Amino acid sequence: MPIPFDNSFAALGSPFSTAQEPDPVKDPSLIRINDRLATQLGIDPQWLGSQEGIEVLSGNRVAEGSNPVAAAYAGHQFGHFNPQLGDGRAVLLGEVVDQHQHRYDLQLKGSGRTDWSRGGDGRSPLGPVLREYIVSEAMAALGVPTTRALAAVATGERVMRDGIEPGAVLTRVASSHLRVGTMQYFAAREDRQSLATLVSYILKRHYADKVAAEKPALELLEAVIAAQARLIARWQLLGFVHGVMNTDNMLLCGETVDYGPCAFMEEFHPETLFSSIDQQGRYAYCNQPGIAQWNLARLAEALLPLINDDTDAAVEEAKNALSQFTPLFEEAYQEGLAKKLGLEGFTETDIALADGLFAALQEDQADFTLAFRFLADEINPGGPNTGAGALFKPGQKLLEWLPLWAQRQQAEAGRAEEKQARMFAANPAFIPRNHLIQRAIEEGEAGDYGLFHRLVTRLENPAHYTVADSDLALPAQPQEKVMRTFC
Ligand code: AMP
Ligand code: MG
Ligand code: MG
Repeated sequence: MPIPFDNSFAALGSPFSTAQEPDPVKDPSLIRINDRLATQLGIDPQWLGSQEGIEVLSGNRVAEGSNPVAAAYAGHQFGHFNPQLGDGRAVLLGEVVDQHQHRYDLQLKGSGRTDWSRGGDGRSPLGPVLREYIVSEAMAALGVPTTRALAAVATGERVMRDGIEPGAVLTRVASSHLRVGTMQYFAAREDRQSLATLVSYILKRHYADKVAAEKPALELLEAVIAAQARLIARWQLLGFVHGVMNTDNMLLCGETVDYGPCAFMEEFHPETLFSSIDQQGRYAYCNQPGIAQWNLARLAEALLPLINDDTDAAVEEAKNALSQFTPLFEEAYQEGLAKKLGLEGFTETDIALADGLFAALQEDQADFTLAFRFLADEINPGGPNTGAGALFKPGQKLLEWLPLWAQRQQAEAGRAEEKQARMFAANPAFIPRNHLIQRAIEEGEAGDYGLFHRLVTRLENPAHYTVADSDLALPAQPQEKVMRTFC
């Protein structure tokens, strides 16, 4: 078998998914294969790029061993519950198990209509496929838990959105696509048995150390809360704005999923928001931790009947679990902030130091990414990987803050080079900037994938600055700025 499929989720059968072959497309052509990821998954990248491989990646052929299904799920979208969403434009081809015994879903996104498509066409335009490829792979390189992109193919077909756009299919890899919304689907139907099946399936797949837990549903809730608290801390530390944190877009394995109207913040502002469909600012940068907690409360509600037969006791236990989110988030966030600032650890007084920095960045309208890179250059000027900071002109408020940081640094042991190396690791020179993604999409739509490939390759090593790529490190010029993103 070119792809060593092993289909444990499809084997759960109904009501968790419906059998669904992808819809063939007219004229598939390869855009990119993620060779390294393919190899990690035990798939020959050469084969993936062959005609047979491209047929599989476009949905024109069902690979040997694949048992494709579309999964059931529900979800709160912008706060409103929809009891039936499901894979309306995606099919799960199956799973592969890598050499570390880690199991991954292989999913085609944009592969045609399914039982869950409602009014949709089941397709994806090229733009969102390129965006998801670039951003999800950048997130992986930044060390953020995320779904991955294994391949992108153009379909040779057109899809209707705002206008007519070229179509594409993304092959997405995830530790699993099981969501908060998956649990909500069965809770809404009061299907306790299916909920219990899912709890043990998910514990076995993602939280194996908890399989024998006395209270499996509560342990699952606690594990997801901890994973999400860590994940959202990583987003905040990088200035990543997800844009559509609906409960169907929150994975139980703790990976980032669904790169729709997402973007990285440039000028620091807590209320940064890009999504064109989020008029209320529900999913703005500063709201992400609170929204994650809100979503986790919806997960707790779905699990309630399994947590304890006594409802009052179940509510109490769920509340206790949820109260862990904020301290876990704060811990992960402060640990990350310490690294970003070149500190061994975060103390009580560092809260004021960090607050002062963020206030300065906001007043200066400073680029979030380059400002930290500037600090990393400052700590050991002329060090081996300095230079990105030179792209940044510190504003008045930041200049006023610098002596406070310098003073704090005096209390820290360690050589400047070591501190700087740690700061580089925590502060990327390159992030997937929205105007560059936009340009890569526009050029891709015109048949030129040069910038797309260049971005993907450059972002594989985001901490290492090279002058030759300085154009990819710079924030948007005023006329290049992308204020709104669309999914
Ligand atoms: P998303 O916005 O990607 O989180 O998707 C929300 C829901 O809408 C999911 O159930 C998707 O499967 C469905 N959906 C989004 N786009 C399409 C489409 N073009 N055709 C069918 N279903 C879609
Ligand atoms: Mg989604
Ligand atoms: Mg989406």
